[in-house]
Amino acid sequence: MSRGSASRDCDPGTDDRPVGPVDATKVPRFAGPGTFARLPDCYQVDDYDIAILGVPFDGGTSYRPGARFGPMGVRQASRNLRPGFHVELDVAPLTRLQVVDAGDVPVTPYGIAEAVAQIEAQARDLLGGPHRRIVAIGGDHTVALPLLRAVAAEHGPVALVHFDAHLDTWNTYFDEPVTHGTVFRRAFEAGLLAPDKSIHVGIRGPIYDRLDLRDDASFGFRVIRAGDLDVLGVDEAAAIVRRRVGDAPVYLSVDIDVLDPVFAPGTGTPEMGGLTSRELLRLLRLLRGLDGLNLVGGDVVEVAPAYDSAEVTSLAAATVVFDLVTLMVKSRGGSAAVPVAAVDGVEA
Ligand code: MN
Ligand code: MN
Repeated sequence: MSRGSASRDCDPGTDDRPVGPVDATKVPRFAGPGTFARLPDCYQVDDYDIAILGVPFDGGTSYRPGARFGPMGVRQASRNLRPGFHVELDVAPLTRLQVVDAGDVPVTPYGIAEAVAQIEAQARDLLGGPHRRIVAIGGDHTVALPLLRAVAAEHGPVALVHFDAHLDTWNTYFDEPVTHGTVFRRAFEAGLLAPDKSIHVGIRGPIYDRLDLRDDASFGFRVIRAGDLDVLGVDEAAAIVRRRVGDAPVYLSVDIDVLDPVFAPGTGTPEMGGLTSRELLRLLRLLRGLDGLNLVGGDVVEVAPAYDSAEVTSLAAATVVFDLVTLMVKSRGGSAAVPVAAVDGVEA
């Protein structure tokens, strides 16, 4: 193998911006770098618009641990993506904005408070200005709290669009105030959420106490339960979310357990009766609307590869990460040049 051939690409090609992923017609998808979708590492470029950030922390887990291996699993599964052109969203996202893999937060496994501080510090460093955005790969859902803090520091309070089987608005669990089941109550208390703009989608399953629902509503959340989708349909649910968030800056958090365990077995707290992967992807793609959701941050969390089967959960998560990146590209002014076709005639 000759040096300098297309077999290796150690030169970021400084004349070409943005630097895209490794060309799969020259290096097959099962080879090459282990970054998300084989995107450039953040050290290969001078600046970036969107950073993919791994957050391998699962110390806030209440049932099965293992989401600390989520970033590794999702990156591996992301090799399967063909990130050149997003058909449903009608854009070649990685030619529009510079997207990089920023690696993992070197987070302690031995203390929730310290871990949360480390995650927030790294997220603030990576943001460093309103033009930059992060799509994080968890980790358990605890990681959303420091990410929300960092995003709200740039943009002010955000509308939270939260896909999950669970509300994650408990008060404490075993006296711990910051866990993967309490983060959005903490976010509400800290003023990180724009009033009456947030919504949970995909909630289901029994709970410890009916009062959990009352508390959640008092924080200004609206809920579309998984069973509501049977009545509303996916398109009406997406329209409800769009109307709910309006023009507010949006943080979109996807707990992969929003999917049915059939589609996402590799997760910490599975619940039966969830969404299909096709329903979730259509919902997400409809959210871009005609004017573009103002998506300022997002995460995909709770992938625990040890319980996965044939990478199905990791692949679902990798696909959602790519969709969030693409939604961000559609959200940006630079994407206005792209003609936006309605998805199957649905307006939002
Ligand atoms: Mn969750
Ligand atoms: Mn959950």
